[in-house]
Amino acid sequence: MRTATLTGERTVEVTERPTPEPAEDELQVEVVACGVCATDLHMYRGGLTVDYPMVPGHESAGEVVAVGGGVERYDPGDRVAINPSIPCHECRPCKAGRENLCRDLTSIGGAATHVVDGAFAEYVRIPVGNVEPIGDLDYRTAAFAEPLGCCINGLDRVRLTSGETVVVVGAGAIGLLLVQLLRASGAGPIVVSEPVEERRSAALSVGADHALDPTAVDLRETVADLVGDVDVAIEAVGLPQTIEQAHSLTGPGGRTLVFGVPPEDATVELSPFDVFYGEREVVGTYSLTPGTFARAVTMLRNGRLDTDALVTDEFGLEGLERAFEQMEATEGLKKMVYPNRE
Ligand SMILES: [Zn+2]
Ligand SMILES: [Zn+2]
Repeated sequence: MRTATLTGERTVEVTERPTPEPAEDELQVEVVACGVCATDLHMYRGGLTVDYPMVPGHESAGEVVAVGGGVERYDPGDRVAINPSIPCHECRPCKAGRENLCRDLTSIGGAATHVVDGAFAEYVRIPVGNVEPIGDLDYRTAAFAEPLGCCINGLDRVRLTSGETVVVVGAGAIGLLLVQLLRASGAGPIVVSEPVEERRSAALSVGADHALDPTAVDLRETVADLVGDVDVAIEAVGLPQTIEQAHSLTGPGGRTLVFGVPPEDATVELSPFDVFYGEREVVGTYSLTPGTFARAVTMLRNGRLDTDALVTDEFGLEGLERAFEQMEATEGLKKMVYPNRE
């Protein structure tokens, strides 16, 4: 089968690899759509420890083409979304229902302790417990189940409740998906901070109430004037400056969610007195759980989000490198790859 393979730092090649055969409790899925994520870009740039050659791609959906002998619930022809995270189900975090924090996590194409070839490929094999049926949902929308499952995990972590005031720092594809999820989850006013004009207007069109340019206004003052105290600030960039900025916007009882992937060696300044006296929390969110993945598929199947609005560029496998270049140049929003399309 054809795959888009990272063969070294900043090198993607479309290569032939053996088509994976499903084991007893696995499915073989023909990948129809796979979103490109910032994590893929990090792997391409060599920012994450990767054993080359490897096939990235962890936001996918497709059609079941073969099933292992022990599989009863699925048949060839079934349409599914793929959860790339395979927890061990044996460690303490797994037993606590926090499978995203598994100590022995395997990821299909993502970042984890063990990485197996991902979905920028014509076919993947996947444990039967890692898919959700999508009914007649289109594959491109279903490919958002993984990133949406991560966003749902994030909102669970900050315990968002109806009517709370939220700021999202960074309106890339994930920031915009978060805005839509916040809207669907009953958030009160949603303010977006984003320097790129095109992204600010996208934020307004997908449900933000205000979109501010942090390079042109005093963010803290303007946010306070517009919406008063901020309950939840979500950082969707992954930089120490924007994490500090997000945290500086929250009021008493506020929660700052670190959603963007920061550099491993970054540090931020934090006032422990504010954490104490204002009970202002800094909360992390990593990846997704089987539970948040299932909820993401339910939301998508029920039309709660408009993911079409987020897709700006579409490619075959040969286009993956171009997609990375566009992401580095902040061009467009979500990139989608169709591995079985020329
Ligand atoms: Zn991702
Ligand atoms: Zn585990």
